[in-house]
Amino acid sequence: MQFTGRTWRPPYEAHSCIIELTAGCTYNKCKFCSLYKNEPFKIRTLEAFEKDLQEIKSYQPHTRRIFLTGANPFALSYEKLKPYILIIRDYLIKCQHIVMFASIRDIQNKELWQLKKLRAMGINGLSIGTESGDNGTLSFAGKGYTPNDIIKQCRKLDNAGIEYYFVYMTGLAGSGNGYKNAVNSAKIFNKLNPYFISVDSLTLFPDTEMYTLAENKMFTPAGEKERLEELQTLIKNLQIRTHLLANSVSNFIPLTAYLPKDRDKIISELQYIIDTVSEEEMLNYRKNLNSL
Ligand code: SF4
Repeated sequence: MQFTGRTWRPPYEAHSCIIELTAGCTYNKCKFCSLYKNEPFKIRTLEAFEKDLQEIKSYQPHTRRIFLTGANPFALSYEKLKPYILIIRDYLIKCQHIVMFASIRDIQNKELWQLKKLRAMGINGLSIGTESGDNGTLSFAGKGYTPNDIIKQCRKLDNAGIEYYFVYMTGLAGSGNGYKNAVNSAKIFNKLNPYFISVDSLTLFPDTEMYTLAENKMFTPAGEKERLEELQTLIKNLQIRTHLLANSVSNFIPLTAYLPKDRDKIISELQYIIDTVSEEEMLNYRKNLNSL
């Protein structure tokens, strides 16, 4: 198997087979992110991809779920993506889910009929780093799309029958803005059907634009307790049936919940942390993080 540079897969794909389709990110403009800063966007050749599939087949011929790595392999046009997806089926006959990261922008370049065809070929899981559904926060973070874009593009996925997962990032709106960010994001997410929502919390790394803004006093990071309150607000305002996975390393305490069933329980758990752990302890935890 060959992987280029940094290989990143979400925690919930830990049990999926992984294979590289692309390296780097086509966008690279989100102000909080430096994951692929020095890595030009590249697409594997079909031959190299096929070689890896042969290897996977020799070890895990019954693979049912495969994760295609790269910040956004779904950026490939329908015509470019098609041969890679079809060849997976040639080697892994039992594979039922072909999943990958995608940006809202990457859905924009596909027609509904193309999405339906991709679904029929096996694509059934897109991890979308929405981060927020609040217009001001999206714009400040440099995400390059609006809340209306999120609604429009995800409705296309709903129509095509492709499952999708959102990422929400607490703290992204900055100090004093967490409540508004959570309420407005919940309003947008409530109009859609994310199979689950994965929660991260902003960590500022020195090679990001947001870190420089904070250094120059042009951005004030939200406190740790404010972030937990922001998460409580998001949970209170979500009216959809979904899973919430706040269990990546950027969360001070890993929590998961099935909403709305676990709503009260998880809100109480968050309140317990707010009441019993000091801001300083949480800050120290974040200072020692070395990846998202
Ligand atoms: S957050 Fe995702 S889309 Fe934005 S720059 Fe980083 S990898 Fe690219």
